[in-house]
Amino acid sequence: MSKRIRVRFAPSPTGHLHIGGARSALFNYLFARHHGGDFVVRIEDTDQKRNVEDAEAKLIESLRWFGTEWDESIDKDGGVGPYRSMDRLDVYRSYIDRLVAEGKAYPCYCTEEELNAEREAQKERGETPRYAGTCRNLTPEQIQAYEAEGRKASIRFRVLENRQYTVHDHIRGEVTFESDGIGDFVICRPDGIPTYNFAVVIDDALMKITHVIRGEEHLSNTPRQLMIYEAFEFEAPEFAHVALILNPDGKKMSKRDESLIQFMEQYRDLGYLPEALMNFLVLLGWSPEEEQEIFTREELIEKFSLSRVSKSPAIFDIHKLNWMNNHYIKQASAERIAELCIPHMQKAGQLPEELSEEQRRWTERLVVLYQEQLEYAAQIVELAAMFFEDGVNYDEEAKAVLAEEQVTDVMKAFHEEVTSIEEYSADAIKGALKSVQKATGHKGKKLFMPVRVAVTGFTHGRDLNETLFLLGRETVVQRILNVINNYERVVK
Ligand code: GLU
Repeated sequence: MSKRIRVRFAPSPTGHLHIGGARSALFNYLFARHHGGDFVVRIEDTDQKRNVEDAEAKLIESLRWFGTEWDESIDKDGGVGPYRSMDRLDVYRSYIDRLVAEGKAYPCYCTEEELNAEREAQKERGETPRYAGTCRNLTPEQIQAYEAEGRKASIRFRVLENRQYTVHDHIRGEVTFESDGIGDFVICRPDGIPTYNFAVVIDDALMKITHVIRGEEHLSNTPRQLMIYEAFEFEAPEFAHVALILNPDGKKMSKRDESLIQFMEQYRDLGYLPEALMNFLVLLGWSPEEEQEIFTREELIEKFSLSRVSKSPAIFDIHKLNWMNNHYIKQASAERIAELCIPHMQKAGQLPEELSEEQRRWTERLVVLYQEQLEYAAQIVELAAMFFEDGVNYDEEAKAVLAEEQVTDVMKAFHEEVTSIEEYSADAIKGALKSVQKATGHKGKKLFMPVRVAVTGFTHGRDLNETLFLLGRETVVQRILNVINNYERVVK
């Protein structure tokens, strides 16, 4: 019987969930679901200097929003936990002791200063810096002397000489590393906390992970991890290192680059839909067999395979994401999109903090009016700005429309019709415009364009009847009267 597939996403709580991390989570999730296996989310927090308060909770929150549901994690025990590295120190301890007892690892008493000086000297000689092996063969007496001095030891892994370690990578093919290029590395710091390279192996092995799917930046760590698997005679998992995501200009993404939106939380807050991000991110690296771009989650689960993940870097194209998000916004219910738009409108002062039922219904209709156009929810504020402004500013194009000779007639007739509507509605407005046509003899562009421009200031826009309805009769009448009463000033 073949082994049950188990994969994991193992973020370190060093900041918000980056799109690169979200993509790794997604590939793991899809791979697990495709094979009917398990998806584990584990927190790797042993690098305490880099940990950021709250980051763990935020990561989990972002992942939950993204929708890569997991089977086991800090909140869901699958029997191989704990799922947070710092809760596993006892486990690591016993494995470290074992390596030391077997002579596969040893205490190193070199201080930070000594190691720095060593590195500098190596660099000066033009060598690649690596641990020189100072403490490799300490005698019990030397160890005692260091201990008596009060020095604290880190534990180093004894790298075997003259060996080759080959990663059979599902994406990159075979990648071979020479052990001689790798100095004895630290697996446990003087404070007793293991390093990532050690903890990750113990965790992956004990959690029965079968496939490690992660970012390419970890490929160079893999030979060190393979050495540890070998030392314990653990069976190593299979590996798949996913290529980087690059900026539109082809350069490596920097998390500090604020001109790019790189964190899932930011996308959520701008009003992107998780299913759009899922669809977008999967295509940053994976490609389907057929020409298809829009996929449901079920389709992705069915189609995803590591063999179709590219080894070339993917380029991040925000326009494509916006196009895709717009696609999903158009399909979503008005209620859901309004829910996303409302906080932005409130923040902009367009809506009150508390909405009445009527205001909510009005907002939903407004959102429907712009749903076709919205790339993400925050855009509603600008798109719908003219609903909330006191007057209208007419630009040159608008003035040219209003200067046409039929405009005063049309305005006057429209004013009369609109004020005499009994029940103000989009249909009634349509009827009013028809009556204006009959009364003035102007139709089509000559009729609708000046009305649109007078009331909205724009020559283009969404459905006119619905726009006039949502603006409300009072505003419409006010804006029309303004054109009639101040005609010379308006068109000048
Ligand atoms: N904790 C690592 C990171 O956040 C993940 C390492 C791994 O997947 O092996 O980059």
